[in-house]
Order: sequence, then structure tokens, then C-alpha cells
Amino acid sequence: MATPVSPIAIGIHGGCGTLDRKLQSERDWAETEAHLAQSLRAGWKILAAGGRAVEAVEAAVAVMEDSPHFNAGHGAALTEAGEHELDASIMDGATLGAGAVCTVRTIRSPIRAARAVMEKSDCVLIAGKAAEDFARRQGLAMVDNSYFTTERRKQALASLKALKARGTIALASEAERHGTVGAVALDGRGNLAAGTSTGGFNNKPPGRVGDSPIIGAGTYAKNGVCAVSCTGQGEVFIRHVAAYDIAARMIYAKQTLRQSADAVLEALGSHKIGAGLMAVDGAGRVYAPFNTLGMARGWIGPDGVAHVGTHKEILRLGAA
Ligand code: ASP
Repeated sequence: MATPVSPIAIGIHGGCGTLDRKLQSERDWAETEAHLAQSLRAGWKILAAGGRAVEAVEAAVAVMEDSPHFNAGHGAALTEAGEHELDASIMDGATLGAGAVCTVRTIRSPIRAARAVMEKSDCVLIAGKAAEDFARRQGLAMVDNSYFTTERRKQALASLKALKARGTIALASEAERHGTVGAVALDGRGNLAAGTSTGGFNNKPPGRVGDSPIIGAGTYAKNGVCAVSCTGQGEVFIRHVAAYDIAARMIYAKQTLRQSADAVLEALGSHKIGAGLMAVDGAGRVYAPFNTLGMARGWIGPDGVAHVGTHKEILRLGAA
């Protein structure tokens, strides 16, 4: 293991479309927190062993993709046609290398496919069937589209369709509508990375692509500045180039991560949307603002102490 020259840190989120605490059993909340902790530790283990930020981000996101509690991979949202179309991206702040896939239906872990696009192709973003063919050629695990379906998402789709038919879609909760997972990391060589994976919006039209696979909108990382993964209505994040705007304010206006992220979140929130993000700066300071009821999240800062939370309160898990 090379001698670390930088503190290490990891932050993860499971989307800002969190359910009201009363709408899920304590057992389900405990499992959600356990999966957040598992994701954090998967990434931290890599960083602590001298691994790269990109590897840690991929590992942390892949754990949440496998969990039914988050809108990504297994447990992803359904389109209005009752199918899953997944988006993901990853960015390496050391090289500005980036990879993404969108509207994929059969790749078990879209974040792994995004990394393969970054490292094994000349492209940044590959869509649909071509991305699936690419992933298969890379030897990634492929599944039937039904693998991603859970009872909860079927219910959310039915409820959204009913609200839409009654003309009361505005009453839909953030949790029924959307969610995402993401991770950011700083490794011992000072490299930053960010990754995001999502099923997008419930009841979205087929072919709709949000911010999560768009570099600069839902995901951005640049060494010495910050790594950012966003969650919320993608169309607004794309128009604000939100993740890059956070980095740009830090570079050009010399803002701190906190000042920059707060300003961008406020601008996004002015569109009356739920929004949140997980970010880390070049010194390992983690910041995770959101304007909704809650945002599943967790982090381990340079002090090595793990924290997770789904609403306002945070659980301190102790040393990682
Ligand atoms: N940003 C995601 C999208 O628009 C959804 C979310 O994060 O809740 O697809």
C-alpha cells in the first residue's frame, strides 16, 4: 500500500425521495440503515486499503443498487409502460474521465457498466440496447427486466396513475415519485470521484433520461475541488448544470463547498422541486444538503467515524 498523502472520506446517498417515517415499519427503516452502512463500508474498505476513489464509489453504489430500499437497480422505479429503464454515471476527478449509460433494461449493475464505459471505451455515454450489448461483451452480469421490480414500486406506479387520472398528481409524495443512489469519495492520493445510479421517475415516459447519467448535471468530480452526486427532478438539474455549478462556484468564486452547494440547492429549490446532493471537497469535508423530508445518506469522514440517516436525525455508528 502506498503511503497516503491525503485524508480519505466517503459519502453516499439513497435519494431525497424519502418516505414519511410512519409509512414504513421500523424493521424496514432498520434494514434501510443497515444497507446504507453496508454501502459505506464497502467503499471505505477500498479507501482504507489504499484503493482508488473510483473503485470505492463503484463498490458503494453497487451495494445500494442491489438493495430493494432504493430507486436504483433492484427496487428501481417503473416507467408508465410498467418497465424499468436505468441510468448511471461515474466520474474520475483525477483525469476528468467519465462514463455513463442510460435507458438500460438488463444490466444488473448500471454503475459497473458506467465504469466500463469510462475505462474500456472511447465514449462517455452509451444508450439503451447498445449499452447492454457493450456490458455483455465486458462480461457484466445481465438480468431480466423483471429482476428490478418490487411490490413497493408497483404500488407507487398504481398510485401515481390514479392521482394523474384524477388530476391530483400534485398530491403525490416525493417518495412515490422518485429516488436515486450515489456516492462520492476522496482517496489517499487526493483523487476525488463521484457516481450516481437511478431508476429515474416513477411513471416516466419510456425514453426519458434525467440528470443522473449526464456528467455535470447529476455527477461531477474534479481533483482539488469537489465530487458531487445529485438527487431530485433531473430536468431542473440538467438546466442548472447543477453538479458542475457547485464545482465552478468553488473554482471561480472561491466559495467553500458548503456555500456553493447551499446556493445551488436554493436555486434548484426555487423551481418548487425536491432536491438534494452528497458532496465531498478536496480536504475530505463531506456535505449533504436536501430540502425534502429526508434523504437517505451516510458518510465516513477523515476521522473514520461512520454516520447514517434517512430523515433529519443522524445515527453515529462509531469507528468504521
Ligand atoms: N435525478 C433523478 C432523475 O431525475 C431522480 C432522483 O434523484 O430522485 O432521474
